[in-house]
Amino acid sequence: MSDRDGFIWFDGKLVPWREANIHVLTHSLHYGMAVFEGVRCYETDSGPAVFRLDEHTKRLFNSAKIFQMQLPYSQEEIIAAQLEVIRANQLTSCYLRPLAWIGSEKLGISPKGNTINMSISAWKWGAYLGEDGLNKGIRVKTSSFSRHHVNVSLVRAKASGYYINSILANQEVTAHGYDEALLLDTDGYVSEGSGENVFIIRDGILFTPDLASCLAGITRDAIIQIATDLGITVKEKRITRDEMYCADEAFFTGTAAEVTPIRELDDRIIGNGGRGPITEKIQSIFFDIVKGKNSQYSSWLTMV
Ligand code: PMP
Repeated sequence: MSDRDGFIWFDGKLVPWREANIHVLTHSLHYGMAVFEGVRCYETDSGPAVFRLDEHTKRLFNSAKIFQMQLPYSQEEIIAAQLEVIRANQLTSCYLRPLAWIGSEKLGISPKGNTINMSISAWKWGAYLGEDGLNKGIRVKTSSFSRHHVNVSLVRAKASGYYINSILANQEVTAHGYDEALLLDTDGYVSEGSGENVFIIRDGILFTPDLASCLAGITRDAIIQIATDLGITVKEKRITRDEMYCADEAFFTGTAAEVTPIRELDDRIIGNGGRGPITEKIQSIFFDIVKGKNSQYSSWLTMV
């Protein structure tokens, strides 16, 4: 990905893509403490629009706060910089990746004495789990790796190092032909996907795990609001793996994954074995919103 045209916002300036480089002795590269966001910008009839930009930026600053990383910019500056990157690269739709990391002044566990650096990159990124996945659903397998425990990792933060756990889970199941991993918490209850929150539907009620071990997803929050506005009861609770096998419908949510139906878990077919009717309804409202076709939720979009 490093060999591309375009611009990356790097410590306050737009630099050519190929020149956005860091030193091998960067603290975050050695110890994994960096915080980031994944944000999507969609094409609408009135131009590109970023979905829930304020919420993503706020989560980035909260992630930094959790790790006591003092970001050298204000939230307003980072919001403006994200829009600037989209404009500079003349993108009509894209994925945005703001990142804050600990610099290369010194190594050793303690990050003290290092600068905090920031970058924002933007590029075109289609359906994360495939167009077919969005339409027909994906095949998911429970990983043997547990999701983070609250006293091991602070899961309100979206931190680079946490994704080692996601990669292990994803590698494990994709090596056997599945599309994505489902991770359980350390008590054995359903937590989330390697990069997605999870929902199930049973008897018309939408269930999702509470936020003990999973990321407080911004898409998750949007889906809860959309479903509630549709008059669907939403319950956050502990969910077991076999509850998911017997669900009528299931789906993943995430900025990258959007709303992706799950058609199989651990070789058990869920519901009708495809995209369920409630999933389809929620998914179609979600895509209308992000594409600027639903005025009820227009406050979720920031025009570029
Ligand atoms: N869980 C994990 C582990 C993730 O990486 C993501 C993607 N950011 C999500 C859930 C979904 O969060 P969001 O909807 O805010 O993208």
